[in-house]
Amino acid sequence: MRLRKLRILVDMDSILADFLGGLVDSIEAHLGYRMDPNNIKEFYRMQDALPPEVLKQMKEAGKTIEDYFFLPGFFRGLKVIPGAKDAIRAFLDEGHEVVVVTAPSSPTSTQEKLEWMREHFPEIPAKNICVFPQKHMIKGDVLIDDAAHNASAYIAEWPKAHTLTLAYAYNEKGKRTNYNGRYDGKYTTEGWKAIVEHVRCVAMGVENPIVRS
Ligand SMILES: [Mg+2]
Repeated sequence: MRLRKLRILVDMDSILADFLGGLVDSIEAHLGYRMDPNNIKEFYRMQDALPPEVLKQMKEAGKTIEDYFFLPGFFRGLKVIPGAKDAIRAFLDEGHEVVVVTAPSSPTSTQEKLEWMREHFPEIPAKNICVFPQKHMIKGDVLIDDAAHNASAYIAEWPKAHTLTLAYAYNEKGKRTNYNGRYDGKYTTEGWKAIVEHVRCVAMGVENPIVRS
């Protein structure tokens, strides 16, 4: 069967790069508390995963949770999410175009993210890497992004696109509400392998029998 060549937009934080793992380590190093990312229920309320005494300690230090990932070197040092390298390789081997689109996250993050991509994903050309928050302005067939607001904005602009994500506690709500009813139901909880299988179905123009709606 002939595969359609797709343009696949791929987010970095929590899709290619283990942002939460880095945040957990940073908070532990500075506040002595190991946070459970499963307690992050809202994308923009990560501090809710911290107990009151740690929040108090953070406040007394004059910090917000952003300060623990705004540290120089934070984004440069993130680990690669398991399965991401194989997935990108599979997309490229199948002839798809991969465009990495990531929002600038901190004053030093743009440079760090570009360096991180060069180290971990040298097969993606630099011209296909955008540090740009308005992802919906870039036309693609598939958006892989953990943030429900990005998926919603994308589908609003490109109704035929497919939006996929790795599962996190804070995008469970996206699953339940189907991202404002337009998430297309192609949600995966099984990591990168399931995303690759789903993208293959999109390229073949067939329904993915394993996805849940
Ligand atoms: Mg992300």
